[in-house]
Amino acid sequence: MTRLRWGSATDVGRVRANNQDHVLVTGSLFAVADGMGGHVGGEIASQTAINALQKEFEKDSSIDSLIKSAKNANKAVWQRSQKEANLKGMGTTLTAVGLIKNNNEEELGIVNVGDSRAYLLQNGELSQITEDHSLVEEAVRSGQLSAEEAIHHSSRHILTRAIGIEQDVEVDNWIILPYKGDRILLCSDGLINEVDDSHIAQILREHKDPQKAADFLVEKAKSNGGSDNISVVVIDILEDEVSTKATSTNPTSLPVDSTPHKNVIDDLEYPSAAPISSFTPSKNKSKPLHAMPKKKIFTLRVVIFIFLLLLVIGGAIGVVDWYAKDSYFVGLKKNQIVIFQGRPGGVLWFKPQIVDKTPYNTSQILAFHIASLEAGQKEPSFSASKRFVHNLIKEAKQQKTFAANTPPPVNASSTTTSTGLG
Ligand code: MG
Repeated sequence: MTRLRWGSATDVGRVRANNQDHVLVTGSLFAVADGMGGHVGGEIASQTAINALQKEFEKDSSIDSLIKSAKNANKAVWQRSQKEANLKGMGTTLTAVGLIKNNNEEELGIVNVGDSRAYLLQNGELSQITEDHSLVEEAVRSGQLSAEEAIHHSSRHILTRAIGIEQDVEVDNWIILPYKGDRILLCSDGLINEVDDSHIAQILREHKDPQKAADFLVEKAKSNGGSDNISVVVIDILEDEVSTKATSTNPTSLPVDSTPHKNVIDDLEYPSAAPISSFTPSKNKSKPLHAMPKKKIFTLRVVIFIFLLLLVIGGAIGVVDWYAKDSYFVGLKKNQIVIFQGRPGGVLWFKPQIVDKTPYNTSQILAFHIASLEAGQKEPSFSASKRFVHNLIKEAKQQKTFAANTPPPVNASSTTTSTGLG
């Protein structure tokens, strides 16, 4: 059985004349709606949406029912805006969490339309579950804007999807397994625009009581400016089905390895300073997806580790590369004398490269040099290699000149020589 504890707060803020946000907290359905439009439109839109959501969800608790409830909310707001001239164009965001049943298992369904948000705090790490339907956040997702540019962007309040604007609406939805110790936060943009994620996480870690956490979040948003209405719902999962079963079969101790929830921490013991994780639950999965710690592949620590590992590997490659390339030798390509960069035979995967093909071949040098060229004659630099080749050729020419100007020795072979010359 899943046991929840929750707290909520909504506040007009320090600038706005009225509060157009609405929150809903029942034991099994929680929602935040941020209304917009006209003098009274916003207030009515968010209230109408919340009422319609609740009414439909009471009939059946499944993910389909939760999605249907959000669509019902859309229809209710849209129909009302069509009937009353002063409410024309009103709309609202809607982010909701419902305790749902799936094959007798209890799960948490999450739906979202607009730019209010659902977050998950797990093992002290905060991750955003929902995706904002706003011009700016969509530009961030498609890579046109950086997250930093988005924070103070002038168009950040422009929504691309909202409840009540059209006859039908697409509803994003997620399913997560309730996991003892997890904390879910729903909030309107009045919180997000005043308090950044790391401070939200810090407050959620510091205040164990969900009502106190909600109150502190609202207070923080107000002290940072409070330029918009602020709404917050904090839901703690005190018991999940696995922990309940484990406790009821063996009330004195939890079995050590009977559960996929081995990493469960007590809901009141958050680490004091954990990083923001980049965990993203998948949308619309037919199988419930649980945001377990082992699924968070890219925590900050892992990213830093991978970065350092790449740095070491890169450094090693650099050293080998430098060693392999920082030398030259004179060698042969077939019979042609060429200059290579690298080490004779190569180093690991670095094969020597021909950097200069000289116009000379083995017939132009003295024969006894050929063996050393075949093995590779190492030289400290490219110019030294050129000089070496130059000297080989010069030496062979001198030898020829010397031979031509030297009369043949007078000995037994002279006859043969003379005959040859004659
Ligand atoms: Mg707002």
